[in-house]
Amino acid sequence: MISPEDIEKLVRPEIKAMPPYVPIQPINVLVRRLEISETEVIKLDGNENPYGCSPRVKHALADYAYYHIYPDPEQRELRKELEKYTGVSVKNILAGSGSDELIDLILRLFLKPGDRVVNCPPTFGMYPFSTDVCGGKVVSIPRKPDFSIDVARSFKAISGGARVIFIASPNNPSGNITPETAILELLKAKAVVVVDEAYYEFSGVTMAPQVNKYPNLIVLRTFSKWAGLAGLRVGYGIFPANMVEYLMKIKQPYNVNAAAQLAALESLGDLDYLRGTIKVILKERQRLMEKLGQLDWLKVYPSQSNFILCRVLKGNATAIHKELQKQGIFIRYFDTPQLRDCLRISVGKPEHTDKLIAALKRKR
Ligand SMILES: *Cc1c(COP(=O)(O)O)cnc(C)c1O
Repeated sequence: MISPEDIEKLVRPEIKAMPPYVPIQPINVLVRRLEISETEVIKLDGNENPYGCSPRVKHALADYAYYHIYPDPEQRELRKELEKYTGVSVKNILAGSGSDELIDLILRLFLKPGDRVVNCPPTFGMYPFSTDVCGGKVVSIPRKPDFSIDVARSFKAISGGARVIFIASPNNPSGNITPETAILELLKAKAVVVVDEAYYEFSGVTMAPQVNKYPNLIVLRTFSKWAGLAGLRVGYGIFPANMVEYLMKIKQPYNVNAAAQLAALESLGDLDYLRGTIKVILKERQRLMEKLGQLDWLKVYPSQSNFILCRVLKGNATAIHKELQKQGIFIRYFDTPQLRDCLRISVGKPEHTDKLIAALKRKR
């Protein structure tokens, strides 16, 4: 008879060796662990929209009559509306179950076991995660102290035979964009350049109109942050047309569920409302930035996104992170060498800023 040990031997060795992705914990889990009430929680750890989704999404989901029918595998309606929103043809657009799924699909399309993927840490953890799962090899080209990418070293790494490079712009967790000149430089290599614009609606900076000029450029976007749909999982990519054909071929047919497609459509139909919340968040980012800047033991990095990265100059970031948690204030701490003293704070509502700043002042 086959034993659990035999099963262990059947598991792909690269899966055994890979480090796990460390996600943020859901609120109800944190609340139970810390014995605080859910209403007291100030959640500034996920870069989510504190104002939630468009009210039109809630009404449309409540009224939808076709949950028993499979959704459109070609996402026709959604892609058509995305064409209007992005100004790029439907032939260049594909939606995914979050942009996370598109990261995975891109790597499935281009990686053979052992193929290299260039990553520029500190950055979004899904790039190395999905590379590992796909059997690829991560080549890390660390960012500079100001978190800009090292263009020369990155270019060298991708032109040496790597398949794909990922650049988050604005970068998570540092908040800075990568200038177009740097991306154009990388596009000269014979590799796929993925520009992840998850926070585009906060930065206003995009490479999307360039996708038709460069056969190796991909732009990723998501409804999770600006449109408040993180829980429904819907993102999209802007790709050269031939890549859309291949991705259409390898994706699961019903990858974006009916509720997610509907919610994304309703969001695109309520842009005035959503742009209003973005404006409020940007204004609050400015106020949060100023308040954090007044704390002399913090170095605050500039942000073109809906979160702010800070470095604790005097004191201990882990301890501050834990102490805030006890008070029901959740922010993000990353236990990596480049980010050891850093905290990432999502921009919340004004009252969240006030409570956070009061807690940080008490801490010292
Ligand atoms: C949040 C985030 C994503 C994830 O987007 P989903 O659409 O929710 O999967 C992708 N990239 C970056 C850089 C992010 O910060």
